Amino acid sequence: MPELPEVETLRRELERALVGRVIKSVKIFWSKTVQPFTPTIFAKQLKNVRVTSIERTAKILFLNLSNGKTLAIHLKMTGQLVFQSQGSTLGDFKVEPLIAGGHPEDPKKYTRAVFEFNGRAKLYFNDLRKFGWLRLVSAKDKQIMTEKYGLEPLSPEFTLANFTRALTRYPNRKLKLTLLDQTLIAGLGNIYADESCFAAGLRPRRRVKTLTDKEIKKLHRAIKQILKLALAKGGTSSRNYVRSDGSPGDFFSYLKAYGRSGQPCRRCLTPIAKIKLAGRGAHFCKNCQR
Ligand SMILES: [Zn+2]
Repeated sequence: MPELPEVETLRRELERALVGRVIKSVKIFWSKTVQPFTPTIFAKQLKNVRVTSIERTAKILFLNLSNGKTLAIHLKMTGQLVFQSQGSTLGDFKVEPLIAGGHPEDPKKYTRAVFEFNGRAKLYFNDLRKFGWLRLVSAKDKQIMTEKYGLEPLSPEFTLANFTRALTRYPNRKLKLTLLDQTLIAGLGNIYADESCFAAGLRPRRRVKTLTDKEIKKLHRAIKQILKLALAKGGTSSRNYVRSDGSPGDFFSYLKAYGRSGQPCRRCLTPIAKIKLAGRGAHFCKNCQR
């Protein structure tokens, strides 16, 4: 699932591509994507509306519109947003399975929605697993959607004091599960929770109450550093994520724990272990992490 660096990468790229553009038409190929609206009503509400700004909270993108509404987008497991300016073709994409094949102008097999803008530019919403969604919301709905999220790790509110308060809210919880709790810290998922634990030398299974002040400080710094680096590399294309031009994010080669089970630790060569934590995989080095 795209996490904070991936969604923020898209936000920045789409901000450059879409702000100021007017939506000319919307085609929906999978009606559940735009629930509770029908595709017809959804498309009608967006016709001739301009994108005024693009924001992000946790893993949700918000396209603010000139009609006072907001188009909220969640990519969930496999969603992609691919922008095609006039003259470029979808055949250029490097990530083949989801978007290759067919005539460049055709919607692809997993395309659920296509937005056409002025100047013949298009935004494709592709989603293999169909968990992603597009919702047209009012300012009030948007507020309700965003207020349940916790600290944004790349914002000024992510101080050591605020982080410590969020982290120790449930003292008996295992560390990784707290890092994944979006109501405490927003935007971290499997990849960056594993990487942050590795960088801080902490096992994902550690109970939060056993962490020392020094360890919390190290973890706080690790989260910020990893997210900043991942953002600078355009995110991690470990599965389905692609940038808005269809190219992969480059952080994959920087991963030290996530997705590396059985491979030698980059620090000490001990094979990276994988365990199950609340039904999800967690990767760590038994030697480097305590
Ligand atoms: Zn190690």
